[in-house]
Amino acid sequence: MDNVRNVVIIGSGCAGHTAALYTARANLKPLILEGHEPGGQLSLTTLVENFPGFPEGVQGPELIENMRKQAGRFGAQYQLGHVAKVDLGSRPFSIHLGKEVIHARSLIVASGASARWLGLPSEQALIGHGVSSCATCDGFFFSGKEIVVIGGGDSAMEEATFLTRFATKVTLIHRREEFRASKIMLERAQHHDKIHFLTNTVVEEVQDVAQKEVTGLRLRDLKTNKAWDFPTSAMFLGIGHIPNAKMFQGQLETDQDGYLVTSSNVFTKVAGVYACGDVQDRRYRQAITAAGTGCMAALEAEKFLEEQEG
Ligand code: NAP
Repeated sequence: MDNVRNVVIIGSGCAGHTAALYTARANLKPLILEGHEPGGQLSLTTLVENFPGFPEGVQGPELIENMRKQAGRFGAQYQLGHVAKVDLGSRPFSIHLGKEVIHARSLIVASGASARWLGLPSEQALIGHGVSSCATCDGFFFSGKEIVVIGGGDSAMEEATFLTRFATKVTLIHRREEFRASKIMLERAQHHDKIHFLTNTVVEEVQDVAQKEVTGLRLRDLKTNKAWDFPTSAMFLGIGHIPNAKMFQGQLETDQDGYLVTSSNVFTKVAGVYACGDVQDRRYRQAITAAGTGCMAALEAEKFLEEQEG
């Protein structure tokens, strides 16, 4: 078969770029397939303060762009395209991008995770009209307005704090009393005079679908069971992520939440197929751990290809 790639990497976030850098430096000429969200979650974030080597912090998009340049310098090739399905049952593996089929001796899955939504029909109808999962992308549109952030983890705290740059008031709505967020990020939000907290509260409806813009939320207090209308111009979701692993259904093992199951960090049950980053990591989900497993996946792919040749 002609045109069989040594390594195809699905995903261009922190894990994918790191795997690209290592396999490119090993002269394996990796092809990186970038999906709907090139650059992954780092490209949607602001200041990253916990990636070692940047004493003043670094902007997420800048960090990811530098990773891409670094891998590109050693010959990594990037291609845009949504992977519809893969066939890992025969070798070389087949990766289907619409009508195009790419063949690979080894595969590194670094497809990451995407934002989680509440799942309300009114929320879905108003995405792009005041409902957003990306404060960095859409915050600017709500300059001088009052907005809401949903969630109780680090993402929600980060979004709420970031959105104070634009909004006159940010209300953080969380369904419980306790927060998953780290102490430092929670306290930063709690001490901010523009951020207000509503706990034990859920969103039942986003208004106003008929007007095609967010004008308010129907909220319910879970302690008193009281429902009321809360006026706002926007709702930003910060309620976590869902692994992008649907295309591997029936081919690779997933857990109950859809994360790819790996052993020794990056091994899937199919020899020559490795998974790294947020698609397989439900525990740490950090840029640095994604880079770490991206490196491991690359080293294992390299070893696998060497053994095949030998
Ligand atoms: P997370 O820690 O899983 O928190 C998700 C939050 O959303 C939880 O408070 C959860 O509520 C709430 N939630 C989930 N589904 C919901 C629903 N259907 N309705 C209402 N609320 C819902 O996710 P994350 O904040 O995205 O953080 C993920 C990981 O990335 C963490 O390890 C975090 O430390 C890391 N992170 C780090 C930074 C940073 O350091 N700069 C920034 C962002 C994220 P419950 O608590 O009730 O389950």
